[in-house]
Amino acid sequence: MCIFCQIINKEIPSAPVYEDANVLVIPDISPQAPLHWLIIPKIHTESLSSVLPDQALACLLVIQRLVKEKAVKDYRIVVNTGAEAGQSVPHLHFHLLSGRSLAWPPG
Ligand code: 5GP
Ligand code: ZN
Repeated sequence: MCIFCQIINKEIPSAPVYEDANVLVIPDISPQAPLHWLIIPKIHTESLSSVLPDQALACLLVIQRLVKEKAVKDYRIVVNTGAEAGQSVPHLHFHLLSGRSLAWPPG
């Protein structure tokens, strides 16, 4: 079972920022910005190419809700897909990065 499924199943403890029936949000263990959260659909799937539409939408709506609630004004959403793009955990997740100036293009 992948590491995020183990976190979702509470086999590995975490400190969720947000949780509902479809989505878990946790701080990244190795933050790349003052705010760096991972928005994770609870049903295991590797990428956006395979995710169920309602799971993808649930993640986007949670992002919208959290940035509003926490007054996060400027932010970046990243979905690394595949090894060449930097994906290291084979369970779809959206990075939410904020709190510093972010370079573009990302490199
Ligand atoms: P990827 O490289 O797949 O786009 O992103 C995976 C992210 O998951 C990385 O930013 C990494 O720091 C984070 N990560 C890996 N293992 C854990 C973990 O056990 N707990 C948490 N909170 N984050 C993790
Ligand atoms: Zn998984």
